[in-house]
Amino acid sequence: MSATSSSIALLPLTARPLRCRNCGAERGPAPVAICELCLGPLDPVYDAGRALPDAETIRRRAPSLWRYKEWLPFDGDPVWSLDTGFTPLVEAPALARRLGVARVWVKNDTVSHPSLSFKDRVVAAAINAAAAFGLETIGCASTGNLANAVAAHAARAGLKAWIFIPEELEQGKIIGTSVYGARLVRVRGTYDDVNRLCAQVADHFGWGIVNVNLRGYYGEGSKTVAYEIAEQLGWRLPTAVVAPMAGGSLLTKLRKGFGEFLDAGLIHGQPPRLYGAQAAGCAPIVRLLERGGSALEPEVPRTICRSLAIGNPADGLFAARAMHETGGWGAAVSDAELVQGVRLLAEDVGVFGETAAGVTAAGALALARAGRLRADDEVVLCITGHGLKTLEAVLDAVPEAPVIAPRLRDLIPLVEERS
Ligand SMILES: *Cc1c(COP(=O)(O)O)cnc(C)c1O
Ligand SMILES: [Zn+2]
Repeated sequence: MSATSSSIALLPLTARPLRCRNCGAERGPAPVAICELCLGPLDPVYDAGRALPDAETIRRRAPSLWRYKEWLPFDGDPVWSLDTGFTPLVEAPALARRLGVARVWVKNDTVSHPSLSFKDRVVAAAINAAAAFGLETIGCASTGNLANAVAAHAARAGLKAWIFIPEELEQGKIIGTSVYGARLVRVRGTYDDVNRLCAQVADHFGWGIVNVNLRGYYGEGSKTVAYEIAEQLGWRLPTAVVAPMAGGSLLTKLRKGFGEFLDAGLIHGQPPRLYGAQAAGCAPIVRLLERGGSALEPEVPRTICRSLAIGNPADGLFAARAMHETGGWGAAVSDAELVQGVRLLAEDVGVFGETAAGVTAAGALALARAGRLRADDEVVLCITGHGLKTLEAVLDAVPEAPVIAPRLRDLIPLVEERS
């Protein structure tokens, strides 16, 4: 390629039309939350005849999630958040030994740009939908990381942000939102109460609430985790993927993403078995999977893993199906186990993840112990948020550091004692 991207005229950005996941009804591109006919969720419709890039073309593109733009719900060129995505895939041999499998990698979204969680991906998609629709205010209902991401992406784009969270969240999530100048509102209630309020907010003010009336576009950002895993493994598939579940969107979209790359002929073989992890204090999707059937029973969350504390998950049924139909399973871990999971990930891999990362690591361990992972498995763990955001969770789980005078003779006994 001789031309650089800056010398190519940008094509105006438009959003793709939408189709109901339940009844199949189609409608034009718009900031709408649900199907007008059956209240089902909406997904973007792609042009099946569009030109798709080959692996070599993708490899030459900038290292962001927009290298897969043909699978993102727009025509033309994205205007904001061009630098999100393409986080490291880190091999973790010590963790592989601990799990008793052939190989393990960590998909490290703790270093996602710009807000240190995988929510940068969905917001990169949603904020471009807001641009396509000419919206000047965006917002969200959030358990923390989405709040951070919406605030950061809106600040860079010069948009106003209104952000709604449950009253009690970790300091890192609250300060990590307010610092960007976003309007942050703490709501007395659970995430599900906040989410209901946000449906009314979207209608009343006409704002783009990223996970309500921009949700169809927002969700597609999660697929890029699957694309990146496939590309970073050298255009091949792992045998199993373990991911945390809140609303169940990431897990559902992992399946869609792997499926699309298989359909495009970019990778071959069996889709990976998908495993979802939740905290036992809020595990409605894991319990639905274990029970069978299609009736999700909402829960009132009781866990320190606030980022995954969604008692009535919007994509819960689809996530349970994705786990079941790919031959995977679910794991629910206690708060004590998830704290151990955070430690294990830090000590084995050198990655400091938040509580959801602890759920994923502890979930993988539980699945291995239950015989769900095999000796020849190649497993990817989706580590979705940074540990500095949830320091409260590990405060009492790490040893206190000794304090000494600046004298070698004070240090020597310490070294002898701790070696
Ligand atoms: C939001 C979130 C997830 C997954 O959310 P879904 O709603 O299931 O897509 C996973 N990990 C972290 C840290 C999150 O903030
Ligand atoms: Zn419908």
